[in-house]
Amino acid sequence: MLQLSIRSLNKQYANGVHALKDVTLTIQKGMFGLLGPNGAGKSSLMRTLATLQDADSGSVQLGELDVLREKEKVRQVLGYLPQEFGVYPRSSAVELLDHLALLKGVTQRAERKELVDYLLQKVNLFEHRKKAVKSFSGGMRQRFGIAQCLIGNPKLIIVDEPTAGLDPGERNRFYNLLSEIGEEAILILSTHIVQDVRELCTQMAIMNRGEVLYTGGVDEALDLI
Ligand code: ADP
Ligand code: ADP
Repeated sequence: MLQLSIRSLNKQYANGVHALKDVTLTIQKGMFGLLGPNGAGKSSLMRTLATLQDADSGSVQLGELDVLREKEKVRQVLGYLPQEFGVYPRSSAVELLDHLALLKGVTQRAERKELVDYLLQKVNLFEHRKKAVKSFSGGMRQRFGIAQCLIGNPKLIIVDEPTAGLDPGERNRFYNLLSEIGEEAILILSTHIVQDVRELCTQMAIMNRGEVLYTGGVDEALDLI
């Protein structure tokens, strides 16, 4: 069974902020909620797991992979939906996914088309496939982000504050989508919204000021929240 083991992870920024203090977590397949207020260290942890930032000490193991050292290999099995995914290109949804699939090594055109159409249908954007991603609403962008994440069939999916700014209807659609994909991989959902974790996750951790205050089942934790 695939497992993510985070052991004694530490990170201090140049400004002296100790964003991760001996963070130790064991995460199994399924949906794992990482709950904490702004500044808790969630994004720092997510960026480290996504191989985008180095830790000062500690280790992260994903199955056989040493995440902090074998970054290229980890990126091949990783889907990452950052909090804000910056520049929205003028390209259409279909063009962009096609390009990403090519970068991930799907070199056959027909195979790429099949994959891209499948993903667009999965996230309910097929009818909007020819529109510029720039023109999408917040909810559509989040769903598009999930399609991007899923290219390459990731084993580890990291979603950072995904429901911030979504209206309740969009949030529900996004929940449904996440619970579908969370069955196939290790999915870590970082959020400051208790409802996100309550609705979607069975396992969770609570972080504050760089420290893990709780890790375990969601039902058991509801008393603490
Ligand atoms: P949030 O608190 O909403 O999670 P972040 O703290 O992740 O937002 O900040 C967003 C961006 O700003 C990140 O790229 C992060 O590296 C950067 N950042 C956050 N705090 C600082 C800081 N004190 N000094 C420099 N960069 C920072
Ligand atoms: P969260 O995602 O839970 O809001 P972050 O990991 O973004 O937490 O931030 C944890 C702490 O680290 C905060 O105090 C934040 O200001 C600080 N921080 C985040 N990124 C940077 C950075 N690049 N440089 C300096 N400080 C940072």
